[in-house]
Amino acid sequence: MGVLNKCYLRFEKAFWPGDVDWLEHVPGTGPAWTQWVSLVRAAGLPVLLGFNAAQQGRDLEALGDTAIVASAMQSLRTIFGTQIPGPLDYQITRWGSDPFALGAYSFNALGAKPAMRDDLAAPLGARVFFAGEATMRHDFSSAHGALLSGRRAAAQLLQLRSR
Ligand SMILES: Cc1cc2nc3c(=O)[nH]c(=O)nc-3n(C[C@H](O)[C@H](O)[C@H](O)COP(=O)(O)OP(=O)(O)OC[C@H]3O[C@@H](n4cnc5c(N)ncnc54)[C@H](O)[C@@H]3O)c2cc1C
Repeated sequence: MGVLNKCYLRFEKAFWPGDVDWLEHVPGTGPAWTQWVSLVRAAGLPVLLGFNAAQQGRDLEALGDTAIVASAMQSLRTIFGTQIPGPLDYQITRWGSDPFALGAYSFNALGAKPAMRDDLAAPLGARVFFAGEATMRHDFSSAHGALLSGRRAAAQLLQLRSR
């Protein structure tokens, strides 16, 4: 399972350009925070959403909320200047340490083969059927992959009933 975490920051008003949805930043050093989404156009809210993936995401989610928000603000102050205001509120995901998720979604680790996903999808006898994005050869790591895997499991069940 890979990790992709989100940190939403809500401000009193937007201090970033209002005509873009995605803001990309290549930092010199320090915490990544390379990718931001503005919710101004999509939701009409002065909210910025920062992503952190893989090891960066794991490292950050081990920190407390205050440290994560401070790290995000450090990055935004590098991009927009030190005069920008602090957030009014925030929301943070920690998918890697969520006991019912243990990650954001599956990825193909070095040496992984498509057949491994077939193994995950293989029913146990005629009683237990598996769905979930990780069980898909194609469209894994996605919401539509998860949906299609559920349809596959349902079809397997219906096939069983019609025998
Ligand atoms: C930050 C982030 C961004 C994403 N962006 C996109 C995107 O832009 N486009 C896209 O298509 N996909 C995206 N995804 C991926 C997509 O959300 C997932 O691939 C999809 O939700 C996986 O669905 P699933 O049913 O396989 O698993 P899940 O949605 O994880 O469902 C598994 C369920 O099982 C429950 N569970 C776990 N253990 C137990 C247990 N022991 N007993 C009972 N219940 C249990 C969990 O609580 C959970 O509800 C994103 C995911 C993340 C985290």
